[in-house]
Amino acid sequence: MPVREILQLGNPALLEKSRPVKNIDSSSLRVLIVDLRDTLLAFRNDHGFGRAIAAPQIGMHEQIIYVNLENSSFAGALINPVITRRSKTQREIWDSCFSFPELMVRVSRSEDVTVNYVDENGTRTRLDADGDLAELLQHEIDHLEGILAVKRAISPTAFMTRTEWLRQAQPE
Ligand SMILES: [Zn+2]
Repeated sequence: MPVREILQLGNPALLEKSRPVKNIDSSSLRVLIVDLRDTLLAFRNDHGFGRAIAAPQIGMHEQIIYVNLENSSFAGALINPVITRRSKTQREIWDSCFSFPELMVRVSRSEDVTVNYVDENGTRTRLDADGDLAELLQHEIDHLEGILAVKRAISPTAFMTRTEWLRQAQPE
């Protein structure tokens, strides 16, 4: 299955909103899910990091994200995901993105969230997430709204190159 090109920061298509998926059983949806999975795994193989991708990042404006956490069994597509609850408590993290892998952005996100979505089998599912997964889901669902992490920067100086971030050794 093909590994797709990942659109990069500056490409206006990343700022477009995605459409809800209407037909869960379509063959084009199956192909898209496989392409997202393969593109995510190829990116991680090349870069040594990467846990999720959103369909608009490969130029497909459908409301689908694909998650594959390295240290957890959680893997698969989330179709039409919606955040239905956000904790009041927030936490700041250094975020990055497949669409600007060399740039780190300081963002503030909800500590935990509830996400409703349809899984690959068409089952309506509710996920209560905290920690890394909560942060990741907020990042990816933002993509479906055309919102990039750079827009969530907590200040105009809240940026760092990945090289400098690694040099300062402050992964969180
Ligand atoms: Zn991203």
